[in-house]
Amino acid sequence: MSKTQDLSALLSDADLFRSQGYINGKWVGATDGATFPLTNPATGAKLADMPHMPRGQVAEAIDAAKAALPAWSALTAYQRSAYLLKLHGLMEQHVQDLGTILCVENGKPLTEAKGEIAYGASFLQWNAAEGLRTYGQTIPSPFPGTRNMVIKQPIGVCGLITPWNFPNAMITRKMAPALAAGCTVVIKAPAETPLSALAMAVLCERVGIPAGVVNVVCMDKGDREAAAGLELCENPKVSKISFTGSTPVGRLLMQQSSSTLKKLSFELGGNAAFIIFDDADLETAVNGVIASKFRAAGQTCVCANRIFVHSKVYTQFANLLAEKVKAFKVGDGMTEGVTIGPLVNQRGVEKVERHVKDAVSKGAKILVGGERFTPSSASNSGSEAKETCFFQPTVIIDVDPSSYVASEETFGPLAPLFKFETDEEVIQRANSTEVGLAAYFFTKDLGRSNRVAEALEVGMVGVNTGVIAQACIPFGGVKQSGFGREGGPGGINEFQIEKLITIGGI
Ligand code: NAD
Repeated sequence: MSKTQDLSALLSDADLFRSQGYINGKWVGATDGATFPLTNPATGAKLADMPHMPRGQVAEAIDAAKAALPAWSALTAYQRSAYLLKLHGLMEQHVQDLGTILCVENGKPLTEAKGEIAYGASFLQWNAAEGLRTYGQTIPSPFPGTRNMVIKQPIGVCGLITPWNFPNAMITRKMAPALAAGCTVVIKAPAETPLSALAMAVLCERVGIPAGVVNVVCMDKGDREAAAGLELCENPKVSKISFTGSTPVGRLLMQQSSSTLKKLSFELGGNAAFIIFDDADLETAVNGVIASKFRAAGQTCVCANRIFVHSKVYTQFANLLAEKVKAFKVGDGMTEGVTIGPLVNQRGVEKVERHVKDAVSKGAKILVGGERFTPSSASNSGSEAKETCFFQPTVIIDVDPSSYVASEETFGPLAPLFKFETDEEVIQRANSTEVGLAAYFFTKDLGRSNRVAEALEVGMVGVNTGVIAQACIPFGGVKQSGFGREGGPGGINEFQIEKLITIGGI
């Protein structure tokens, strides 16, 4: 039997730990009392019984958001901005507690979790400022006595569906521009990490954001999750769905939204190519791979999935990378010094294992790792050890292009190295996928840098860096990685409509 963990004992402000949903300014369980267990992926210990809400409660949250919309959208942009700045301040003040909640429900090391809180808070700061600058236009008319004006207005109630890999930042990345634009929101929290979403609702309540403006519903995976998705997509009171998650769920939500023709923005899966040319600074490139591949134990949509290394530097690069990966300290994210945590669930572990076995069966060699395991810092032991979700950080070389890992997103700590010879060949291989979110390459050649960046079929390119996300720049993909951009000057437009006002008879 699994043991339980008292999360509130780890917090200086235990009130941030909530195991109820937040609808219309009230903390509520599921109407029928249904719950599901939430566990710590590092130990298998139960953290809480969470409300398993039925579809009717999602509709209730949408009604609350619709009722709150007129007053929230009627505030001045300055008033909304002030709320966001206060929220930003509270996040900074509570970074330790918010990071702890994130660490125990998601598994990422505490230092990394606190880094995510800072990143999540940056969306509030950026959008607090950006909301003040949602300018319209006046456009000269070809007709005498006519004036044209374009104004920006909030799109309305927004359904925000977020994933577990960034339990805080994926919420603020959507919520901050939505609130700044004058929209109200219903957040469907991921089943794996609802506590971070609910902690944000506590802070919204504390800064006085009115009831109904921010609502958080939660339920386990399966039927009620699908029902929540249906309600958000089919309810005519919802004007926009912003979703981050897998491509298959994105396709489903798009179909479901067709009956009400909602505005959509989707940030879906990736399969990032990470290219190391023969003139690259190898030390910097290895650090780039580490930052891109092993953050969040490889569970990021922009992480290096296919690492292409020029044949001239292949062996040298592989050895350098293996050396650094061997030095990782894997364990419970709450343990001092741990640099890589568990995967979020067993499904994630099984996928990494399948990718490793398949690549090895096609000739790949394991340089480091290659197996699931339970580190000593994961506080469970004996029969409970199997409930933890660790996989060793792994580097494999001589990977055959027919391996699953060449075409599927691994979403785990597996770095597969492929060999290439020419720029044309590697660009073609990098682009030979149905998705196009991010790509990275390392070179010192300025001409090549421009040529390759322009040729890669992705929404974002990192040149000589493995880190590309910031609140002030657009984030999003092409092809089946989705559409719409989060962050940057255009991010807030996703939550606005442009309204034309033409005035005649002047
Ligand atoms: P998922 O797409 O199933 O889940 C993402 C979010 O969508 C979660 O909140 C989930 O509850 C919700 N969801 C799932 N089905 C839904 C439905 N029918 N209606 C409404 N909401 C629904 O992704 P996952 O199972 O968490 O992970 C599976 C794979 O998805 C990963 O291995 C990875 O490839 C990809 N993924 C990508 C990202 C990203 O950042 N782009 C994030 C998480 C997962």
